[in-house]
Amino acid sequence: MLVTADLHTHSAYSFDADYDPAQMLAAAAEDGLRQICITDHVDFYTPSDVHLPDFAARSARLAQLRGQFPQLTVLEGAEVSMTADPACARSAMAALDGVKLDFVIGSVHTIGAENVWADAFYASRTREAAYRLYLETILLSLDSLPQLDVLGHYDFVAHYAPYTDRAMQYDDAPDVFDAIFRWLVAHGKTMEINTSAWEADEPWGLDILRRFRELGGRFVTVGSDAHNPRALGRRFREAGALAEQAGLALAFYRGHEPQLL
Ligand SMILES: [Zn+2]
Ligand SMILES: [Zn+2]
Repeated sequence: MLVTADLHTHSAYSFDADYDPAQMLAAAAEDGLRQICITDHVDFYTPSDVHLPDFAARSARLAQLRGQFPQLTVLEGAEVSMTADPACARSAMAALDGVKLDFVIGSVHTIGAENVWADAFYASRTREAAYRLYLETILLSLDSLPQLDVLGHYDFVAHYAPYTDRAMQYDDAPDVFDAIFRWLVAHGKTMEINTSAWEADEPWGLDILRRFRELGGRFVTVGSDAHNPRALGRRFREAGALAEQAGLALAFYRGHEPQLL
């Protein structure tokens, strides 16, 4: 299946990316993408560790640019960090209140005071313990973000893991995967194939996507997690093949409504 939509990208409105949306859209158009969603970070890790894009300024910028890229559907989104801390969850919800978005990704980046991307997270744990803890934190955090459309990068923990075999598998925590998938299906939400974690490795996730399908999942979104124009659409051919083999359709979101590709 051809993946024409990159639904997980970051622009200069994210604290950790430097490219104006104009550069992202130009690259997306050149790559032959048809839909792009800018999903800049919204993080409320602690009261002093907050990242919040200027949504109004971004929306105005995207409105200026749409006419220059008539071949692209340009969508407005956010990637919101989910935590099990109710105070952080309330702050994130308040920040999104009144902001008109097409699409919200809910992602886990931290567990308590620990950063999942930091070496220290893995130093004190086995692979099994690290992967299970990450997935359990997703499960505990899902209820905290009512605006969520899609669960972001279920394999973020594998992205930063130091192990030779990082590939995430359903067998890493079948009970937790099942509980996450049952929650997503029961709430009308879905998951994404995030192509960034694979880096130079073979793509993984077919067993995981197949189980999601078995438990009632019907479609997924695909995102490169690009923080620069070169990373847009990276490894989408493989992502499309995975979705197809798992029996899942592909979608993008407009106004929080999934549209099948
Ligand atoms: Zn993320
Ligand atoms: Zn991201």
